[in-house]
Amino acid sequence: MPQPVRVVFLGGLGEIGRNCAAIEVDGRIMLIDCGLMFPDNDMAGIDLVLPDFTWLRENSHRVEGVVATHGHEDHIGAIGWLLDEMPLKVIGSPLTVGLAKNRIEERGHLKKAEFVEVRDGERITVGPFDMEFFPVTHSVPHGYATAFHTPQGVILHSGDFKLDMTPVDGRLTDLAGIGHLATDDGIRLFLCDSTNAQEAGFSASETSIGQNLQDILRARPGRRIVVACFASHIHRVQQIANAAIECDRTVVTMGRSMNKNVALARQMGLLDIPDDRIAKIEDVDRYDDGQVCVISTGSQGEPMSALARMSSGDNKFLQIKQHDCVILSSHPIPGNETSVATVIEGLIRRGAEVIDSHTHRVHATGHAQSEELKVLHSIVRPEWFIPVHGEYRHMVEHARLATRVGISAERVLVCSDGDSVILSDKGVTRGEGVPAEYVYVHGTLGDLGEGVLDERRTLGTGGFVSAVVSLRIEGANAALVGSPQIVSRGWISGPEGDQIHKEALRLVSDTVEDALANGTRKRADLERLVRKTLGRFVSNRTRLRPAIVPVVLGAHE
Ligand SMILES: [Zn+2]
Ligand SMILES: [Zn+2]
Repeated sequence: MPQPVRVVFLGGLGEIGRNCAAIEVDGRIMLIDCGLMFPDNDMAGIDLVLPDFTWLRENSHRVEGVVATHGHEDHIGAIGWLLDEMPLKVIGSPLTVGLAKNRIEERGHLKKAEFVEVRDGERITVGPFDMEFFPVTHSVPHGYATAFHTPQGVILHSGDFKLDMTPVDGRLTDLAGIGHLATDDGIRLFLCDSTNAQEAGFSASETSIGQNLQDILRARPGRRIVVACFASHIHRVQQIANAAIECDRTVVTMGRSMNKNVALARQMGLLDIPDDRIAKIEDVDRYDDGQVCVISTGSQGEPMSALARMSSGDNKFLQIKQHDCVILSSHPIPGNETSVATVIEGLIRRGAEVIDSHTHRVHATGHAQSEELKVLHSIVRPEWFIPVHGEYRHMVEHARLATRVGISAERVLVCSDGDSVILSDKGVTRGEGVPAEYVYVHGTLGDLGEGVLDERRTLGTGGFVSAVVSLRIEGANAALVGSPQIVSRGWISGPEGDQIHKEALRLVSDTVEDALANGTRKRADLERLVRKTLGRFVSNRTRLRPAIVPVVLGAHE
């Protein structure tokens, strides 16, 4: 009787980002992607969110590696962080591996990773994992859907995909190959991208964007053009470059990741820009406005990006001026709308004309919409289905869509981060859960914890008030040394503030003196008392809720 196979979901189910799942065969673990998530506006100061590695850490001796389905940050961005803890094989197309290498190098782990490049349609074995890679179209070239041939049948993971019938590089989603697999072996379990399950119809082809960009450039002769897009969207970069060259402009790339990715893609022959048509940003002033097209990072409003710096006027290479035209060839990822709006606002204030997906068709999604999902479901016809990669509403809608194509509702499982399922002769059943908390990264520190974030939210909305009390305790005698001090930041100001500070001071002083007279000597007790009394006063007097930080010196521990 074949051994059961387990699938564990560590991230990406119920959120856009930090995609990470694990397949367990014969006691070994293979990850499918290991990505990061960008923080929401309410995650004060957080740079990144990682998947929870607790379970992987406990089982690190069993981890073979990670299949990187494609080169997006939400799929490869956390590999470098996992390499902090264990060595890994990183398996993917040459471009995906190249993009992952750039990220891993930044964390100094190139030596801890072993890179395995796989070609379109190839089938390889790593440990007990027998894997087959099918080309899919997406908003970064050379992505794969991955079939795992397991003792419990084929598990097919779609990766991020759309069905673009006229892709920029002519590399189509291998529907025929997937169809063969479905008819020959049958698909036991299908895991599929849910991002656009709520969007009706078919997505626009990537090639439809090129002509639109060219029309926009042609209608703006003599004016400087800046186009922002994802640095990994090599096909979009190609189309922007084509439009620029067609209008007799030179391409100038700006932003660290744009420069890196363009160099990598040109070196791999995936991006075709002649040497005499591409220039460094340092030389941008040598060209007249009508002779350049700058391709920049920052289309998601990232605060430190080249575009954000143009918008705030502190980009050292390029100052936005009247008649410049800035095109955002992108669509904000949920959570980034406010930052994108701020960047656009700044650009317009500096006199630029801003074009985005609201005003022109300058962007096409990389994810299958509902009709495309139906096409793939009708070809795969799986025995069991689990929607992945999406917020909960996307996955629920995808589940509904799958039943409309023909799978029975009992064979569709909507899962969340931390869930696991077991494939056995009995079918697919739910298994034990694993930890799947958000792991916050700030600066170089991982795992900041929800507590720190809560404190930051309080500080950010209410500021803080600190009461510092100094005591002298000698035998039975205890007294205040000098007057207590009230220190506050971000709370109140002006003459009224001074008055409230004075009242708070008197209150703290009286409270501590009473407590000492009653025999209280312990620091923790005194601090608790000060926090409570001062907290009540602040709330009654000001209706504000700052953080209250009592500090008592000289008391008993
Ligand atoms: Zn993704
Ligand atoms: Zn993607």
